[in-house]
Amino acid sequence: MWFKLLILVIAGVALYRFFGGKVPFLDKEIKESKEEHEFGKIEATSSCTVCGTYVTEEDALIYKKRTYCSTECLEKVK
Ligand SMILES: [Zn+2]
Repeated sequence: MWFKLLILVIAGVALYRFFGGKVPFLDKEIKESKEEHEFGKIEATSSCTVCGTYVTEEDALIYKKRTYCSTECLEKVK
């Protein structure tokens, strides 16, 4: 009896998630680890809009929400 009920609950949750439902206690962990990963990626490097050189967030020049590696590249798009 308990086993049947457990399968029913698991199937219900699986269906709920399949149709786009969110289970807070299950999705929270996945979301947090994903955000951490994305944030780390963004902070580490971003590529220059003109030449594609990867620059660290500290060295990057940001103009009109785009990233440039140097003033030379920035001048090309002005
Ligand atoms: Zn560049």
